[in-house]
Amino acid sequence: MNSLPRSLYIHIPWCIEKCPYCDFNSHEQANPDYAAYGRALLHDLNADLERYGSIPFVSMFFGGGTPSLFPPQHLEPLFQRLRDLDLISDHTEITLEANPGTLDLSHLSGYRELGINRLSIGVQSFNEYVLKALGRIHDGHQAVKIIEHAKVIGFNRLNVDLMHGTPGQTPLIAREDLNMVRDLEIDHLSWYQLTIESNTAFYSKPPNLPKEEILDITEAIGEELIDSMGLKHYEVSAFAKPGEEARHNINYWEFGDYLGIGAGSHGKITTARGAIRTQRTRQPSNYLARSDFHATEHPLSDGYLGAECLMNGLRLKSGISYACFQERTGLDPVQFRAAHLTEADRLHLLKPRRFQASELGWRYLNRILEMLI
Ligand code: SF4
Repeated sequence: MNSLPRSLYIHIPWCIEKCPYCDFNSHEQANPDYAAYGRALLHDLNADLERYGSIPFVSMFFGGGTPSLFPPQHLEPLFQRLRDLDLISDHTEITLEANPGTLDLSHLSGYRELGINRLSIGVQSFNEYVLKALGRIHDGHQAVKIIEHAKVIGFNRLNVDLMHGTPGQTPLIAREDLNMVRDLEIDHLSWYQLTIESNTAFYSKPPNLPKEEILDITEAIGEELIDSMGLKHYEVSAFAKPGEEARHNINYWEFGDYLGIGAGSHGKITTARGAIRTQRTRQPSNYLARSDFHATEHPLSDGYLGAECLMNGLRLKSGISYACFQERTGLDPVQFRAAHLTEADRLHLLKPRRFQASELGWRYLNRILEMLI
């Protein structure tokens, strides 16, 4: 198998406060040792490159946690190493997740100077009441401010995360949130419904959520409004102007490879021994103890590989081609379809000759995914 496009994910595990709906690997901690973490990331990267080879990255993504708390100077050695090895260039998409409650202009300028060229801003809502109910540390005004500053500093590529179906949200509030995205001329939007995950404060003490009819109205209004802004719906919850799609996420959805470094990060790499998943220890203190750098590796069996590839690929409106499936999994697409998706074909949930949901299938995507499991 040829080497697949490869991305780099870097996890920053700390937040100022834990949001009640969050099940990410994020930890409240006052004054974490960012300098030590920056050094640890560099060691972690070097160890992965030694194990899995140095292939230029198509994209990089700093996720969290709250990466926008990280002082940019402690990331310099990592960027230097990546440049010395020609693993990134000025054309590599490099995204950092930013929390509007951590607006620090010197950080933003520092990220831009490092070569970070895209921000993903966790706005969730511009409405004060909704933000409070979600336990967010920012207000709507701060969200607008970070977007405006980012543009002035030279971030031409911005994503805004917005939630719907949140406690206290009405269709009118959802519409106001989307109108704000339109007014701020945002080219990429992640618009997704709040889900209550286990291991969260909302799971132990469920909030009052909008009723099903309200959710349906919100979704219909939202889809129409987003479409009128010229943002094309290209993935379950992602919308973009043409050419502004997130390359990093597309590499996940098309089942490319990615190294994952930092506490709790996951990777997926295709090796001569087959495809494997890697996983780092979750606790930042264990990660910083260094003895835990070596990720645990889990081989992906053929059956699981095909299912996982499609569970990602079918999230894209355009799905994935047979050629892409074969390249990413080494499996025969026609045989795989006959073995696992005859029921989906019988119900006309898939288009012919590629793995792509039909219009009907898009409405019942979860049903197709269940068939794969
Ligand atoms: S800011 Fe993000 S990562 Fe941190 S607790 Fe909230 S949702 Fe989770």
